[in-house]
Amino acid sequence: MESEPKPFTQISQEKNKHTKIEEKPIKTNMNEEIKSTINKVKQSRNISLEQLKLLLEINDDEDVRFIREEAVKVCQKTYGNQVLIRGLIEFTNFCKNDCYYCGIRRSNSQADRYRLTKEQMLDCCASGYELGFRTFVLQGGEDGYFTDDKICDLVSAIKEKYPDCAVTLSIGEKSKESYQTYFNAGAERYLLRHETAEPEHYQKLHPDSMSLENRKRCLFDLKEIGYQVGSGFMVGSLNKIWPWKITDTELINGVPFDIEKNVLPGTFEQATGSDPLIWQAILMCIIGILLIWGVEKLAVVLKK
Ligand code: SF4
Repeated sequence: MESEPKPFTQISQEKNKHTKIEEKPIKTNMNEEIKSTINKVKQSRNISLEQLKLLLEINDDEDVRFIREEAVKVCQKTYGNQVLIRGLIEFTNFCKNDCYYCGIRRSNSQADRYRLTKEQMLDCCASGYELGFRTFVLQGGEDGYFTDDKICDLVSAIKEKYPDCAVTLSIGEKSKESYQTYFNAGAERYLLRHETAEPEHYQKLHPDSMSLENRKRCLFDLKEIGYQVGSGFMVGSLNKIWPWKITDTELINGVPFDIEKNVLPGTFEQATGSDPLIWQAILMCIIGILLIWGVEKLAVVLKK
């Protein structure tokens, strides 16, 4: 497991009203298996596939409420009722990769490219520090200009000036040796989304030069080195919002999971007996495209 998060600076003492849960007695006949699973997960700070499946399949309101209450307790124990903020420094939008969904992908000739200098980045940190930020995130594309030496130089400069601040890196896939060098220079945290856990979905979002295997290798390397690793998946890709889906059961490491599969409207109708609402789907698609087009046009007008 990752180590305990280091304390952040308290930027705001404001009470987070959303985390307040109305106190109600928990019903006595609550599923004991769920209760004991939650306790085991809490104690071990880890979860097995079987436990995950059990929790994902809960549909009883009381059980869901119990899980939420336990989650809020853990969250409040770690962070309290605070809003925690980080200073994000987007220092380069050059990238050697060509992820299909990304605005700064290599092949987008319309992007205005920039790189910040070391001085500009340190200026950002100075302003941020004065405002109360105690975590700086250096984020950018996979830009060959910023060699390992340059990254280490930046990290050490920030740590030297602001030893009470955490430095997070978000600069993509690197070798384990590079990750180790940044860590030795003082970087403590790393952000790297895995985006999706399905290899076919991953390939639909990236060119052949990139692979889910390598992304996972990076995440495991980071964890092994000792970084606090931030990851996550991506929502909203076409593959995921495809409206016609059927559910199939698949074994994952021996545990049966219900997996959604995209199918053509005809197959959907055959399998479910439901109307695939083709015209409505096409209409929504056109509205979506017009919306994106309109927003882009508006952005150009506002920029002028
Ligand atoms: S690696 Fe990151 S910055 Fe580069 S194209 Fe992919 S998503 Fe965009």
